[in-house]
Amino acid sequence: MTNAAFRKLPAVSDVLAQPAVAGLLADGYPQDILSAAVRERIADARAAVGRGAAPPTAEDVAREVTEAMKSGEAGWPAPVLNATGVILHTNLGRAPLSAESLLATAAAAEGYSTLELDLDDGKRGSRYAAVARLLHRLTGAEDAVAVNNNAGAMLLGLAAVAAGRDVIVSRGEASEIGGGFRIPDVLAQSGARLVEVGTVNRTYATDYERAITEQTAALLVVHRSNFRVVGFTHEPSLADVAAVGAAHGVPVLHDLGSGALIDTAQFGIGHEPMPQESLSAGADLGFFSRDKLLGGPQAGLAAGRTGLVAALRSHPLARALRADKLTLAALHRTLLHYVRGEAMEKVPVWRMIAATEEELGLRAQAIARSVGASASVVEGASRLGGGSLPSDELPTRLVCIDPSPAGGPDELARRLRAESLPVVGRIEGDRVLLDPRTVPTERDAELAAALSAAIATAADA
Ligand SMILES: *Cc1c(COP(=O)(O)O)cnc(C)c1O
Repeated sequence: MTNAAFRKLPAVSDVLAQPAVAGLLADGYPQDILSAAVRERIADARAAVGRGAAPPTAEDVAREVTEAMKSGEAGWPAPVLNATGVILHTNLGRAPLSAESLLATAAAAEGYSTLELDLDDGKRGSRYAAVARLLHRLTGAEDAVAVNNNAGAMLLGLAAVAAGRDVIVSRGEASEIGGGFRIPDVLAQSGARLVEVGTVNRTYATDYERAITEQTAALLVVHRSNFRVVGFTHEPSLADVAAVGAAHGVPVLHDLGSGALIDTAQFGIGHEPMPQESLSAGADLGFFSRDKLLGGPQAGLAAGRTGLVAALRSHPLARALRADKLTLAALHRTLLHYVRGEAMEKVPVWRMIAATEEELGLRAQAIARSVGASASVVEGASRLGGGSLPSDELPTRLVCIDPSPAGGPDELARRLRAESLPVVGRIEGDRVLLDPRTVPTERDAELAAALSAAIATAADA
């Protein structure tokens, strides 16, 4: 490292004068944004020179800045083909929306709307009323409020119903839902006090009953969506807990997680609790996600008794957590699919769950045939994901690609991600596997083309 090397670093004005950057200026890029980008890049180069690297030329810096500006213009998030077979893949955006929900979202985004206007009397309306009406038809809930996500619904519910007082939870349910979302922490944030009852493996309705005091604001039942307790276990039915709550005038809150409106058990997997069952079993307020098995946009719902929902709506946190118009439009349109009895055909999540092994086998065969000798079809399993029924699998057929010409499964997976339409598959042992279940049928040809292209680059390399 020498002073001479530092002196060779280009000046900001030299870089700005380079044709590539001058071109951006001519296109209308503001000079201050470009100058700041150039200064940052030169500062990085100065640090690199300090570590012994050669100084870049003004042309080098101009090229890097131009590339960085252009890459920032690519659409984000970039669309990908999810061939992992995990239907609710949180890193890939959970539930895809139905075509109708997309249109509803675009319409709400494009112009003004009746979000909070009653057209009959010209007065202010509620942004939640339309969604609450559909949910009433589907689940019997007297009223509902939609917020950012289920974690938000719980936080709001506990804050509105129980701040400064006690909430009784079974010790076996004071769990971590994922990503640092822990029931005891949410309770603490809401200002409610956690009172744990029972044991990790066995809790009875009488445990709740004995713990009720003047200070008790609610009984909270949390669905164990992402873990199982097996062996010497007991948990009371929701109806039993609800009976205890009713006898003591204490509301029963139920965190259902997915809040499936269709019975998952008909597909040979476990039964996810359904909001309609929860409310008819006597829960006073249910919390559930909208981008898990409902197949809607990211949102959370609190649905149940009018008085409790009113308390949630008028709580200051409701404003901080409220769902926006795009979400509400998509949510309304998604719920309408269920009211009209067309959810199984229209909601992508249910179409994927309902796809049969035969159908998936035919699709996998066609994709493999189009890819050629390095592709074969094997048996395997798809998952719901999103913390729903973690131990349950849906039998499927997978396209299996021999990764050896590409230099191994990791390299082939990397090439698939680098395609112009990135493909995310899964690696099992030394195989790269692609599950057609989570790929829209009409995109099979694109999947086959991406696979062929990745294999071809591998052969060239
Ligand atoms: C997924 C889940 C949550 C969190 O829902 P988000 O919509 O992701 O906030 C809460 N509780 C249970 C039981 C869940 O399964």
